[in-house]
Amino acid sequence: MRPLLLLCATLLLMPAPFARADGQQSAPRAADDFILVIHGGAGVVPKDELTPEQEKASRATLDAALLAGHAVLARGGRSLDAVVAAIKILEDSPLFNAGKGSVLTADGIVTMDASLMDGATRQAGACADIRHVKNPIELARLVMDKTPHVLLTGEGAERLAKEHSLPLMPAEYFITEHRKLQLQRVQEREKSRPADPKKAQLNSLDAIGTVGAVALDKHGNLAAGTSTGGMVNKRFGRVGDSPVIGAGTYANNLTCAVSGTGHGEFFLRGVVAYDIAAKMEYQGVTLTNAATDVVMRKLTEAGGKGGVIALDRQGNVAMPFNTEGMYRGVIRPDGKPWTAIRKD
Ligand code: ASP
Repeated sequence: MRPLLLLCATLLLMPAPFARADGQQSAPRAADDFILVIHGGAGVVPKDELTPEQEKASRATLDAALLAGHAVLARGGRSLDAVVAAIKILEDSPLFNAGKGSVLTADGIVTMDASLMDGATRQAGACADIRHVKNPIELARLVMDKTPHVLLTGEGAERLAKEHSLPLMPAEYFITEHRKLQLQRVQEREKSRPADPKKAQLNSLDAIGTVGAVALDKHGNLAAGTSTGGMVNKRFGRVGDSPVIGAGTYANNLTCAVSGTGHGEFFLRGVVAYDIAAKMEYQGVTLTNAATDVVMRKLTEAGGKGGVIALDRQGNVAMPFNTEGMYRGVIRPDGKPWTAIRKD
């Protein structure tokens, strides 16, 4: 009996394991550990269509975003600042669906959404239908820091950006050749398949792809942020899950930080990011179990495509997705970026 009691006591006292990016457990979390996890969307181009150069360029951008966030965290900066720093790099790259290079609406223009949440205070800021702000994630930050509101849209949101001198760009800055061709392709496909308007457009996998980040800083605080151009060929005024706190983004030091990517309508109806945190809070399940259940079972059963990156206060990471792949990356104190695109 005694050895058994001793074993139980030892197991109870053991520190929570520190999960590696590939899901394996590794060393326990040291007091000064920090971690940044990012995604570049679950809209992965099929393997035979992605040239080695394109793959290299996407990975290099993910690396740059990880290193930008790492620089903030390594000097003892806040998770919130690391999330913004990483997302800005992805917004500035034409390769991802956020900021420059965002997907086009049915009318051929770019309208962007972003949100940010601080796990320590549960303060949040978000913006939607943004057309000129170079880095919508910075505008989300302004909404959080400088207004009593959580979500500002369109012209009003852009007024706030102007008041605080955020860099603005002409509409053409955000539009790339690749996105024009993508819109043409999607619209042609739709013409040839006159569809049920409820199902129209948003089923195509190449319609998704967004950027997001979650971080844990040296002070033990979590933060999450997401930025997107939304879904290609979206109808006038459509807003997805990314700027909606609880659907596409959520952070709470008590549970986890989450950023999602995928078919936003399903993330909105499933309140995906908050559902993961709620499972942890109310059912006491682990991050991995909560995130896997919400994405791989609930989202999948509802017919939604996508994935999330999720991080808890012990530094455990979960990155479930039910698409062919999800651009993703992790960086820890050693400063070595880890990135992956497909399931392997
Ligand atoms: N979730 C985004 C939206 O629906 C799109 C994406 O993640 O790719 O607007």
